Amino acid sequence: GKLSSTQLIALEDQHAAHNYHPLPVVFDRALGAKVWDPEGNEYIDMLSAYSAVNQGHCHPRIIGALIAQAQKLTLSSRAFHNSVMGVWAEKMTTLFGYDMVLPINTGAEAVESAIKLARKWAYTVKRVPEGTAIVLSVEGNFHGRTVGVVSMSTDPTARTGFGPFLPGVGPTFVDPETGSEKVIRFGEISDVERAFELYSSRIAAFLVEPIQGEAGINVPSPGYLPAVAALCKKHNILLICDEVQTGLGRTGRLLASDHSNIRPDMILLGKALSGGAYPVSAVLADKSVMLSIKPGEHGSTYGGNPLGCAVSIAALQVLIDEDLSARADRLGNLFRTKVKELNSPYITTVRGLGLLNAIVVDEDACNASRARRGLDITRKRTAWQFCLLLKEKGVLAKTTHGNVVRFAPPLVIEEADLLRAVQIIGECLVDLEA
Ligand code: PMP
Repeated sequence: GKLSSTQLIALEDQHAAHNYHPLPVVFDRALGAKVWDPEGNEYIDMLSAYSAVNQGHCHPRIIGALIAQAQKLTLSSRAFHNSVMGVWAEKMTTLFGYDMVLPINTGAEAVESAIKLARKWAYTVKRVPEGTAIVLSVEGNFHGRTVGVVSMSTDPTARTGFGPFLPGVGPTFVDPETGSEKVIRFGEISDVERAFELYSSRIAAFLVEPIQGEAGINVPSPGYLPAVAALCKKHNILLICDEVQTGLGRTGRLLASDHSNIRPDMILLGKALSGGAYPVSAVLADKSVMLSIKPGEHGSTYGGNPLGCAVSIAALQVLIDEDLSARADRLGNLFRTKVKELNSPYITTVRGLGLLNAIVVDEDACNASRARRGLDITRKRTAWQFCLLLKEKGVLAKTTHGNVVRFAPPLVIEEADLLRAVQIIGECLVDLEA
């Protein structure tokens, strides 16, 4: 017989590595912005698998492409060519306006590939002395979980116990004036300026998310990215924008960097590149950078596989045909307006762009109100509990960390479902103080 949610969760807990702390919901079936658990309970998905299902769960055209390709050819490896990769690559370069694309599988691998590519470019084109290249990141970044990637992180949870880390990458530099290590703050152009002034001859690249996702949907001021791009140009440093979460319509434009009218030297994509139907990621760059890596120097068995490429072609076409960027822009404005209209005393901030939004829950105000009303405050109210209340009423959302709750539904979400989700958010903020 069919296993229950409780049984399935117990199986995972017992047999699978405890890497994450998930909400107790088991996805069994999904379509568009709706998800059903094994018991048949229906939920509105406000996370989209961290922005991987922008096109909606199980989009019929994407699944159609998956099935058709699966019946024909699934893997050639890069030992041979396949009949899909070239078609996909042309679509990618045409759509995003870069000379070339490097196909890979996951977001973290795209970042790892970008680090290697930037280093190779630095040694062969910029003529940085071999072995000394620096790739800079910023405070609060999230680029994935591999060793190279967490070497660039400032998050203790991602780092503690996983060292030693990769040298030559990271968000800090030593300022000789003070002799101390300085961290490059997100959104602070003066920090970038200082690091570049001191070390430009060794810096290969500057890696940044246009909007920080896991750090809590941090939107920089409009001048930040153009200023960063100008500094990179001045010092011959590659600007790498990690659009794994922000790209592909999520923020109301095809790329979040489009809001700033910049053209980074590398764009990293993943997640929604396949609409959730297969792991596909990519690095986009011009020939002047991409051809620094020669045949045999980098790759992956599954990179550019026909199944992933066929799925990705369909996923990109759905974004275009359904004009999902414009939809994200319109529904995002509606979401933020309606949430503000709730006038909840327990919302500190509503922020975001397009359908990448966060609500900051005022846990202290909620606990203070409960204390005033003589309620039990030994067990504090938290944003995590707010998410559990949302789940009970059929809305799935998760804290990025602390008291920041991300709301990022599939871009195809029906307006009525989005408004229903806002209503439930309002109800749960009231329930939180009870
Ligand atoms: N970059 C960004 C900006 C991300 O948000 C994520 C995933 N949350 C990644 C990279 C890593 O992607 P993956 O989990 O596919 O390795």
